[in-house]
Amino acid sequence: MPKRIIILGSTGSIGGSALDVAANLPDEFEIVGLAGGTNWQKMAAQVRQWRPRVAVLTSPDAAAKLQAVLTSGTVSPERRPSSSGETEVWSGSTALDRLIREVECDFVLSAIVGVAGLAATLEAVRRGITVGLANKESLVVAGELMVAAAKTSGSRLLPVDSEHSAIYQSLHSGQHDEIERIFLTASGGPFRTWSVEQMRHATVEDAMRHPTWDMGPKITIDCATMMNKALEIIEAKWLFDIEPDRIEVVIHPESIIHSMVAFRDGSVVAQMGQPDMRTPIQYALTYPRRLAGCGQRLDFSRLERMHFEPPDAERFPALRLGHDVARRGGTAGAAMNAANEAAVEAFRQGRMGFVEIVPLVEDVLGRHQYERHPTLRTLMDVDAWARNEVTQCCAV
Ligand code: NAD
Ligand code: MG
Repeated sequence: MPKRIIILGSTGSIGGSALDVAANLPDEFEIVGLAGGTNWQKMAAQVRQWRPRVAVLTSPDAAAKLQAVLTSGTVSPERRPSSSGETEVWSGSTALDRLIREVECDFVLSAIVGVAGLAATLEAVRRGITVGLANKESLVVAGELMVAAAKTSGSRLLPVDSEHSAIYQSLHSGQHDEIERIFLTASGGPFRTWSVEQMRHATVEDAMRHPTWDMGPKITIDCATMMNKALEIIEAKWLFDIEPDRIEVVIHPESIIHSMVAFRDGSVVAQMGQPDMRTPIQYALTYPRRLAGCGQRLDFSRLERMHFEPPDAERFPALRLGHDVARRGGTAGAAMNAANEAAVEAFRQGRMGFVEIVPLVEDVLGRHQYERHPTLRTLMDVDAWARNEVTQCCAV
């Protein structure tokens, strides 16, 4: 029986790579649900190819266009879903939750960007479904709730983020109480060698020029500020139940070692491969099996050198925030994440300079009303408050 898959965020970078993986392993998966925000053209192409039971676009306008194009003559008759298997188009803010509740599946790939992916991911976890987690923001915002829900329901959270997939794989070499440290590798992003003065003049284009990974715009900017690594510290804490002080960031510009686990006997176990998200996506989708992958292989004869250096906390203050927020827990992740999402958006729209992003996030985080064990409702209130604070700052 093929594994029945729902992809939240199918029109994005991770979603597209996941469908590449599925196309390469045609007997393994049945795509039963696809979801995205606004990109109806891409969704139309995906629906024609994969014929899911349901396609969600949360934007009602975009969903109406999708519906129109699917029912018009632009779909050739032979490729049109049969009447028994016609794809339903759903839209609106509750459609993602409904997709998880009403379309039976074995695996949810959580690949919506930002806190927008949280509610549906949490719903999948609560229902005991295996979740492949690319949407790190849901753990940053609501790690405590997600982990508790997974414990209660028996849902398995499989990391898709390349570093966390690497750690997950490396952890198979030992027991939890044998872990000494976790080394999260980071490429260093496009500004690894830039001075603060140079970064003051960084444009959106500069920040979008990632040296090793090809990703969606928000995470690409997060890599430039190194906020992505801060989010990943928090993600690792929740996924692997490890104290933040034992999570160390190592700059590794080639992005070949995806992360490492140091065990107490002195062994360090690493996972390596080309920087290609299809590999960790496939690992999660087929876990615990390893099937033939479609990505390029590592060629050590061409690899020459690998470099490592400590991160520079002066030029990249986001890293300290990552450890602080991981230690504090509670509402801190929600405040930091929402402020960052809003600040990245403001930077992309030219309303804020690059070097202003992290100080503003720190400022909003410092002023938020902290609560130790928040409900989802409280987390969403903090999220809304922090976004509003950033908007106010950009407006003046
Ligand atoms: P992307 O911008 O390419 O795609 C985002 C997807 O989310 C799109 O399908 C978009 O339609 C959907 N979306 C956005 N807002 C939505 C909303 N309100 N409702 C419904 N759908 C919405 O982003 P990406 O690079 O694919 O990243 C997705 C997630 O995976 C992020 O959390 C990111 O941090 C994580 N991640 C990405 C990579 C990568 O290589 N791209 C690597 C590791 C982790
Ligand atoms: Mg990563």
